[in-house]
Amino acid sequence: MNTPRNIPVSTSPSTSPSTTVVRAACPHDCPDTCALHVTVQGGRAIKVQGDPDHPPTHGALCTKVSRYTERSYHPERVLHPMKRVGAKGSGAFVRVSWDEALADIAQRLAAIAARDPQAVLPYSYAGTMGLLQGESMAARFFHKLGALLLDRTICSSAGGDALAATYGGKVGMHTEQYAHSKLIVIWGSNSIASNLHFWTFAQAAKRDGAKLVCIDPRKTETADKCHQHIALRPGTDGALALGLMHELIVNDWLDHDYIAHHTDGWPKLRERALQWPPERAAQVCGITADEVRSLAHDYGTTRPAAIRLNYGMQRVRGGGNAVRLIACLPCLVGAWRHAAGGLLLSSSGWFKSVRNDAALQRPDLLAGRRPRTINMSTIGDDLLRESGERLPDGTAFGPKIEALIVYNSNPVAVAPESPKVVRGFAREDLFTVVLEHFMTDTADHADYVLPATTQLEHLDLHTSYGHTYALINERAIEPLGEAKPNTQIFRELAARMGYTEPCFADSDEALARMAFVEPVHFDELREKGWVKLPLPDAPFADGGFPTANGKCVIDSPVYGVPDHVPNYECESATPELARRYPLAMISPPARNFLNSTFVNVKSLRDIEAEPLLEMHADDAAARGITTGTTVRVFNDRGSYRCKVALSARARPGVVNGLGIWWRKLGLDGSNVNELTHQRLTDIGRAPSFYDCLVEVAPSGLAPTPPRAPATAAT
Ligand code: SF4
Repeated sequence: MNTPRNIPVSTSPSTSPSTTVVRAACPHDCPDTCALHVTVQGGRAIKVQGDPDHPPTHGALCTKVSRYTERSYHPERVLHPMKRVGAKGSGAFVRVSWDEALADIAQRLAAIAARDPQAVLPYSYAGTMGLLQGESMAARFFHKLGALLLDRTICSSAGGDALAATYGGKVGMHTEQYAHSKLIVIWGSNSIASNLHFWTFAQAAKRDGAKLVCIDPRKTETADKCHQHIALRPGTDGALALGLMHELIVNDWLDHDYIAHHTDGWPKLRERALQWPPERAAQVCGITADEVRSLAHDYGTTRPAAIRLNYGMQRVRGGGNAVRLIACLPCLVGAWRHAAGGLLLSSSGWFKSVRNDAALQRPDLLAGRRPRTINMSTIGDDLLRESGERLPDGTAFGPKIEALIVYNSNPVAVAPESPKVVRGFAREDLFTVVLEHFMTDTADHADYVLPATTQLEHLDLHTSYGHTYALINERAIEPLGEAKPNTQIFRELAARMGYTEPCFADSDEALARMAFVEPVHFDELREKGWVKLPLPDAPFADGGFPTANGKCVIDSPVYGVPDHVPNYECESATPELARRYPLAMISPPARNFLNSTFVNVKSLRDIEAEPLLEMHADDAAARGITTGTTVRVFNDRGSYRCKVALSARARPGVVNGLGIWWRKLGLDGSNVNELTHQRLTDIGRAPSFYDCLVEVAPSGLAPTPPRAPATAAT
């Protein structure tokens, strides 16, 4: 399946009838950031394959992106500007010209900005991870306008900020090194579904005798293939880390020398951990004390020992504290001394010194203005706020949001507490523009939908949060229909607004040439497709964390000593709520979707078939539910209808609502976010999607077998 290495790789789109292969990169929100080869014939992309020479991804692609041409040439692509003619959310639009759309949008934005530019909100995330089609020309445009700033918290900021507070940045092991580990703890990650290439290295280690342990409330496909699965309750990872520390201390499995020289604040955490014997941790986590003891034994006595932490476990109230506790573990046992030991949550911080974000985004265009910041995770509440409304912290909200420009995101489907998000997007006095490939739930609520190019149709550059290679994505084909790159749309909008600064005329190649500084060069990327950052194999073998004093910070001046923080919604914190809604719900992505991307790709949706709730047989029996029952999942915030699969993937007391379906493709026009809330994590101001109590009841319809294959092992 790999592209033969001797095929010359082209750097520009081709319409020649002959076959060319173009270097590219996967743009999706996935730690692997695969290097791609796109085969183009007669101006049409016919194949997307992995680059076999790219060391961390070695030519293999996931099912989702190996069908990328199906997505780019999808018959439902938005290929012309569209103007809404029906009610918001109805999906009734007519085709208009770019001229008409841009003129009207510019006029409307100018009128709002003349009253107060802080009534205009840009809303974007990782629909593409590209540096150019993400925040380059778009950021310039909004900085010049003086629009609101957006706190981009929806996925990773709890863990990211926690890691930065501990190690000084989002830095960690090289993913390739896991192949040489002897113990791998996969914590909060369904790697087979969402970190495929790490999994390849973990399997190599397993073949070489390594033990694999999976920690996850859900018995995922990854857990199936590990030697041990610890199915803890959602939001109790910090308690488990404290229980492990207790055992490391009492059995003296500590690296005292590493602790003394490369950590700061251990004595206080040591005192705290001694309050967490295995029995206490086990009781909080809903596991056995022996599971705590045996994992501590393995972790304390095996070298090299590596942790692959992922973002699932930080989507709860105490997610930040839990990440800080887990990040301390490799320091306590000296795991960092080995290249194949340590921890990886994100590698994106390694790119900080080579990225020139200021050149791309031009914050100087704010010209001294300091717009307020809106947290993207509370968009439901914030779209419903009136001017000057008093916020819970006593400050005033500022002007009501009057205009919303959405790109690289589908907030109506993915933002928490969607009943409020939908009400906000449905406001008749809100002017909404959406740059999109498809008519998503969000696009349905737009006044204008502008057709954006897919990754095959534009130039971009990429860094990664799972490895340490910068990559180029060359344009493989001409834009389809009237689609334009995000950069071009904001360039043209800037011209319509009368912005005359020369930076608004920068071409995409000019942007690409300024995106990186030494030692990453655009010409080298163009020549080779990807460039590895020059980093040591064992980056913290002798300490040297990117903190102020080079040590791992255990006792943070900002956050203190980390602790277990119980969920907002759980038996111990909210007993009355837990009586009414006794089931904890997590909403991990269905295997063939990536957040809400790919839900409309029929071949992938056919595999997932329909929205599914995995439920333990005991919980189902207590409610008169069998496999195939259509149920109502509900709490005080809303109600969501889906099919149940009795499944060993669900532990007792926890249901798994697989996401993230587009609302309009769900059973009754909603999805799991109907039930999630907008309260934020302890660190990083992130949403706590997996901190959610619900009840489940049959909807009254006769059971029919769920159509999803192979996920319902009982
Ligand atoms: S989604 Fe992830 S695994 Fe799939 S091609 Fe993209 S980067 Fe690779």
